[in-house]
Amino acid sequence: MDTQSIRHFINGAFVASASGKCFENRSPTDNRVIGQVCEGGREEVDAAVAAAKAALAGPWGQMPMAERAALLHRVADRINERFEEFLEAECLDTGKPKSLASHIDIPRGAANFKVFADAIKNVPTESFRLDTPDNLGAVNIGHRSPKGVIAVISPWNLPLLLMTWKVGPALACGNTVIVKPSEETPLTTTLLGEVMNECGVPAGVYNVVHGFGPDSAGAFLTEHPDVDAITFTGETRTGEIIAAAAAKGLRDVSLECGGKNAAIVFDDADLDKAIEGTMRSAFVNCGQVCLGTERVYVQSDIYDAFKVRLVEAAKALRIGPPGDPDANMGPLISKEHQEKVLSYYQLAIDEGATLLTGGGVPPMPDELSDGCWVEPTIWEGLDDSARVIREEIFGPCCHLRPFDTEEEVIALANDNPYGLATAIWTENSSRAIRVAEQIEVGIAWVNSWFLRDLRTAFGGAKQSGIGREGGVHSLEFYTELKNICIKL
Ligand code: NAD
Repeated sequence: MDTQSIRHFINGAFVASASGKCFENRSPTDNRVIGQVCEGGREEVDAAVAAAKAALAGPWGQMPMAERAALLHRVADRINERFEEFLEAECLDTGKPKSLASHIDIPRGAANFKVFADAIKNVPTESFRLDTPDNLGAVNIGHRSPKGVIAVISPWNLPLLLMTWKVGPALACGNTVIVKPSEETPLTTTLLGEVMNECGVPAGVYNVVHGFGPDSAGAFLTEHPDVDAITFTGETRTGEIIAAAAAKGLRDVSLECGGKNAAIVFDDADLDKAIEGTMRSAFVNCGQVCLGTERVYVQSDIYDAFKVRLVEAAKALRIGPPGDPDANMGPLISKEHQEKVLSYYQLAIDEGATLLTGGGVPPMPDELSDGCWVEPTIWEGLDDSARVIREEIFGPCCHLRPFDTEEEVIALANDNPYGLATAIWTENSSRAIRVAEQIEVGIAWVNSWFLRDLRTAFGGAKQSGIGREGGVHSLEFYTELKNICIKL
C-alpha cells in the first residue's frame, strides 16, 4: 500500500474523492507530513452505502454461514501473514512502540475475525412450545438474520483492534459494512481493503470512506437513510450526536464512549501486582486507552508506600519513537491532543495539585522535538470536585488519593458521570466481589487490568456508552431476531 496517498475503498476498488479534496496525515513522533488522505463527501458515502446494500443481495447474502466463517478465518490469517506491514502502518499513524502494537494491536485485530466467526457457529436461538385451546399446540422458533448495512465509526487510539472488534462480528453475522476510520489513523483500515480482496471477500462487503466527523464523511454516513445500524467508539459528546442521527429512522446504535476510571487499592493487595497493573492502566499507549486509570484510590495505611513505588516506576518509563526497542511509551496522537493534555497538566496545578512526577514535555532529540510528547504525570492533593478528577484527560496521568473504608471508596469511585471500567486490587475475594458489584461500571477487573475474554460483555454504564458487545452480545446487536410461530 502506498502510505503517502490514501484513498477510499469502495465496492472492492481504491478510489479518490470526486471533489479531489485531501487532508494531511501527520506523524505524532515529529509532526512531519507522512501522506495525503482523500476526504470523502456525500458522493463517496452514497457510493459506499449503495455498494454495501447491493452486496447484501449478491453472493455474500447467499453464502452459507460455514463458508462465511472460513472466509473470515482467511482474513485473520492474511493479516498475520502481512503482520509487518500492518505493524509499520499502525506505528506510522500512532507513533506507538512497536513492542506494544506487535503484542496488542495487530494480533488482537486479526483475532477479532476468528473469534466471532467461531462464535456465530455455536450460538443457539430460542424455541418455545405453546399450548393452544385445541390441544394441538404451536411451536415458536427464533430466527436471526443480518441487520443489513452497518456504519462503523472508529477512533484513533487502537485503530485496527477497535475497528475489527466491530467489523469482525458484523461480517460474521452476514452484514456489510462501511468504516469511517479516525482522520488521525487511516492506514490499517485501508490496508485491510487489500486483504479483503486477496481473500476473495465479495466487493461491497467491506468499504472504507475517509474524512472527518461533522459536515464530512462521519456525519454523512451516520445520517444516511440506507444505513441500518451504527456502531461507534469515541468520545461521549460525539456519541450523543451519533445517537441523535440514529434516532432518525429509529436505527439501532451501539456506543462505546469515554471513561474516567478508578483503580482501588486495598491494604491487603499484593503490592507488586497492584503497582504493575496500575502502571499499565495509567500509562500504556501513552494513557490513550478508554479503560485506562486516571483516578487511583489507595487505602491510607499503604498510601505512602504505594505512592513512592508508583512514582519511581513512572520515572523509569522510557519515552521514544516506535523503532526504539527500549521505548515503552510513545507520543500522544496529535498536536491538538497534546495541547489538550498539557492544558489539564496546567489546570491540575491551578486547582491545587501537588505534582509528584512529570507535568510537562520531556526533552527529546532535535529530530523528534516537534513530536506530540508529554511526560508521564502523577499528582496528589486535589479536591474531589476538581475538573482534573472529574473529566476524561486521555493522557498518561493519574491522581492519587487516600481512603479509609470500603463504603467511602465505593462512593468516591461512583462519584463521576462516566462508568466504563474499574480495577480493584485486594487478596480478599469476598471483598473483591462485594465492591465490584457496587461500582457503577460495565467492566470490573480484580487483580488485573485489560484482561479480555472476547466472549464476555464489553461496554459502559452511565455516560460511557449504550449497549454491550462481545460474544453473544455482539451477535445480538448485529442480527435481527425474528420469531416464527407455527401452529400445529
Ligand atoms: P472522537 O469522538 O473524536 O472520534 C471518534 C470517531 O468519530 C472518529 O472517526 C471521528 O471522525 C468520528 N466523528 C466525530 N464527530 C462525528 C460526527 N459528528 N458524526 C460522525 N462521526 C463523527 O473520539 P477519538 O478522539 O477518536 O477517540 C478518543 C475517545 O474515544 C475517548 O473519549 C475514549 O475514551 C473513547 N474510546 C472509548 C472506547 C470504549 O470502548 N468505550 C474505546 C476507545 C476509545
